[in-house]
Formats: sequence, structure tokens, C-alpha cells
Amino acid sequence: MTEGTHESVVSDETPITSDLSLGTKPYRRLPKETTNNNEPKTTETEEEEEEFVPQIRWPDTIVQLYLHLGCLYGLYLCIVSAKFYTTLFALLTVYTSGFGITAGAHRLWSHRSYKAKWPLRLLLVLLFTITGQRHVYAWALDHRVHHKYSETDADPHNAKKGFFFAHVGWLVVTPHPKVVEKRNAVDMSDLETDAIVMWQKKYYPPLFLLFNIILPVSIPVYFWNETIWNSFWINFNTRFTLTLNIAFFVNSAAHMWGQKPYDKYISSVENLAVSLAALGEGWHNYHHVFPWDYKTGELGNVYNPSTSFINFFARLGWAYDLKSVSNDMILRRAQKTGDGTHPDVWGYGDEDIDKADMDELIHMAEENKFFKREE
Ligand SMILES: [Zn+2]
Ligand SMILES: [Zn+2]
Repeated sequence: MTEGTHESVVSDETPITSDLSLGTKPYRRLPKETTNNNEPKTTETEEEEEEFVPQIRWPDTIVQLYLHLGCLYGLYLCIVSAKFYTTLFALLTVYTSGFGITAGAHRLWSHRSYKAKWPLRLLLVLLFTITGQRHVYAWALDHRVHHKYSETDADPHNAKKGFFFAHVGWLVVTPHPKVVEKRNAVDMSDLETDAIVMWQKKYYPPLFLLFNIILPVSIPVYFWNETIWNSFWINFNTRFTLTLNIAFFVNSAAHMWGQKPYDKYISSVENLAVSLAALGEGWHNYHHVFPWDYKTGELGNVYNPSTSFINFFARLGWAYDLKSVSNDMILRRAQKTGDGTHPDVWGYGDEDIDKADMDELIHMAEENKFFKREE
């Protein structure tokens, strides 16, 4: 598995904006040429692309091969010999632990889209540890690099390199030098002051052993007398690999197949299937345009259990300072750069619009002169 080796912070300490109430330690500005996410990002030269040839990392390749072949064997055992509750337990664990990724490593720690009191942070870090997807610090580091440098060589799972690379390939080859460079440049000082995140980072190997292997495997053995053999393959191997692949699909499928109502110039899309599998994380065109919105989608009431999860804890007072986006901001952006599939901008951006008219529409949207939302 890849491991973030980041220790340093960027030197420019200017907070990104103050009107978004990002708190006392928001992201810091990254190098200026990469901060405009309205434009396609093409910062690397063809010369550099030719120079770098990724090498296969055999230990990581063998781990992935083992996990995926073991996953198939575990599915076979589900059919032929496992108890029903063992399979049910594996599926429930996939979904409940998934909140540790979506509401935890992603929306809380990578994006700081809301704040959480320590009991919720502890719950989320333990759920995240069950998923086995490295520690929060490494996950959030790669995710921040992914957002800031999407679709460039510095994007760890650059979707322009194809489905396989974005899905799992990036984990089994040496990273592009620009990925390494940007991992070392991204400001992670906010997570370095989070005692729960740093505790999980420090004790990750034993925590992984306990929460990703020992507990999931021993619960079915202890409570309903499943065999250790069945429980190991199903509740460690298959469960772990299913969770990995659901997360992988956000990087692959949700950057390839779907609509782009908010920005047609980026690869991320709105993908219902990914949202259904990944607890509401498939509204990825919206998310890349408005990454600070805790809902990671325009419509909180459309399939998005992670938003419901955060809303529930907000009612308890454990989650607070939830960031979002105004309707006008969303519609303005859909008008300006959407592909015309946003319900309120039907027809906008159709291929048969005269080019001169389209240019003028874009210009007018930029000037914000013509658009008024009809009530
Ligand atoms: Zn994100
Ligand atoms: Zn993405």
C-alpha cells in the first residue's frame, strides 16, 4: 500500500478565504498556477510525461492479487458453506464502516466541511480503521492532492490514465515524481494538531490488526459458531476487498461515466450507481466544484446516507459548523460551465446552440447580468 511520507508544510500561510468560515486552520493556498479549478489543468509538458516510466511495485501487486483472489474465494464460501449471518455481518460491516471513509476521512478530515467533537471523531476514526484504507493522515493527504491537481500528473489516481490506473493501478506502481512533490507540499498542519488522527497514525499497525482482522473475524466465530476458516476469508478478505473496491469506484467510475451539470470541463461526474454503493459519494461533479459542501451533492435528500449521518450527529451537537453552498451559487455555476443537464438550466449548453450565442451566454453568465432564478 502507498504510504504518505509527508512531513513539511508549504511556506505561504495565507488562509484561502475568510467568508467561508473555514475555521482557524483551513487549507492554505497552494502554488498559484493550480488554484483555479474552473479551467482544465494541463501544467505538465509532454517531455516530462515521456521521461517518467512507472515501475511495478511487486509487494503491493501481490497484496492486491491476494486480496482480490481471496475475495472471490470468500464469495464462493458465502454460497457453499458459510452461515447466513456471517455473510449478513460482512455486508453490514462494509456499510457501517464506510461512514468512517465518507463522513470521516473524506468530508471531515480531507475537506473540513464540518467540525466534530471528540466522541464523533473517535467513532469515525475507529470505523475508518475497520475499512483498512491506510491511516486518516495518508488518505487525506492523497485526497487533497487529488482535488488540487485533478487530471494532471500530480493527481495520485489521475483518471486520464484510464479506468484501471484510477481504480487500483495507482496503488501498485511507483508514483509520478509530481505526485511525490505535491504530497510534500500540501499543508496538513490542521491534522497534525488533531490528537485522534495522530494517535491513529502512530498506532496504525496494531489498530489495523485489531479492527480490520481480529474483531471482524472473531465476532462470527464467538457469537454464532462460524468456522475460523469461513470467517477469515469472508469477514477479513472479502469484506476488506469489497470496501476497497467501492472506494476505488469513486476514483474511477465517478470520473468517467455520468453527467456534468456543474462543470463539463472536469472529468468527475454525477453517478447514481457509485452513490448507491458508496453511501452518497457518487455526486462527484458537484463535489469537485464545491468540495467544501459537507453534503458532497446538491440534493441532501437524494440518496446520500453520509449526509443523513452527519445531520443526525449535528442534531446531537457532536457535528457542527456544517459548510454548504447557496442555491444561487450552484445555479450560477451550472449556467456558466455545466453540460446543460442541471434541471434548472435545460437546453443550456446544447450542441445545436450557435457558437457565437454560446460564447455570449458564457460571457453574460460571467458578468452575472442575465440569470435570475424563476420561482
Ligand atoms: Zn473530496
Ligand atoms: Zn475525484
